[in-house]
Amino acid sequence: MITILKETPKDPITLMGRRAGVCWGGDIDNEEKNYKRGLDCIRSGHHRVLEYVNVEMIIDGYSARVIREWYTHIGGAPTRLQASTRYINYKDFSYTTPPLVAKNEEAEKIYRQTMDTIAQACSRLESECGIPREDAAMLLPLGMTTRIVDKRNVRNLIEMSHQRLCTRAYWEYRRLMGDICQALRAYSEEWNYLVEHYFVPKCEVTGYCTEKKSCGKAKVFAASADILNKQSAMRE
Ligand SMILES: Cc1cc2nc3c(=O)[nH]c(=O)nc-3n(C[C@H](O)[C@H](O)[C@H](O)COP(=O)(O)OP(=O)(O)OC[C@H]3O[C@@H](n4cnc5c(N)ncnc54)[C@H](O)[C@@H]3O)c2cc1C
Repeated sequence: MITILKETPKDPITLMGRRAGVCWGGDIDNEEKNYKRGLDCIRSGHHRVLEYVNVEMIIDGYSARVIREWYTHIGGAPTRLQASTRYINYKDFSYTTPPLVAKNEEAEKIYRQTMDTIAQACSRLESECGIPREDAAMLLPLGMTTRIVDKRNVRNLIEMSHQRLCTRAYWEYRRLMGDICQALRAYSEEWNYLVEHYFVPKCEVTGYCTEKKSCGKAKVFAASADILNKQSAMRE
């Protein structure tokens, strides 16, 4: 469901080191040195270099709902194309079934019948009432699967992983993020290293949980409450 396109460099760490080397008067023809320099940059938190590495991929078969959430990650001006709802034939659209619905027989029946009713209504509006497809498509549900071609830099993707590998994130997004990690790991050794060390939930970055409703894996951040107490004490 995730296809990493060939425009994505196989040597992201070396590429970062090549770019940083230009500014340091380094030997950018030596790939070993480039790799080491790239690694030093990201380990030191000099994360501007991450913006020189783009990931281009096809994300296919996830719900329109999760892709709507995907679009909220705007840092670094990412770009994407999405399957049209005007020209594609949606009479037999496919859709995502949440696991809790899938394992409940009655719920699964209601869910499936509703999707079938929507598909039939789209079809009848077009064939029986002469309604153009772009208008019948208003009925399409957020659970319908879609396909996008996405391009963004790895700094954005790493930021995204902190939010979306968190247990507070929507289950389908956590699954999508996991699928992307798996596809990148398989793409090259350097990607495997990056995913292993930097694609982590935010509590592993901060050392504590920033969420109000914590899963309990990390200690909850208490400082915000402390700051508010101090501020009100100062006012008194
Ligand atoms: C559990 C959960 C629930 C959520 N619920 C909702 C919801 O109900 N409704 C909703 O709309 N969204 C919701 N979201 C999405 C959330 O509000 C953010 O839109 C999403 O996480 C992307 O924002 P970001 O800051 O993580 O990433 P990005 O937008 O990619 O930003 C990454 C970083 O880039 C920098 N940056 C980006 N843009 C700017 C800018 N304009 N100026 C300065 N710096 C910038 C900041 O340092 C930022 O931290 C939810 C997310 C989660 C994880």
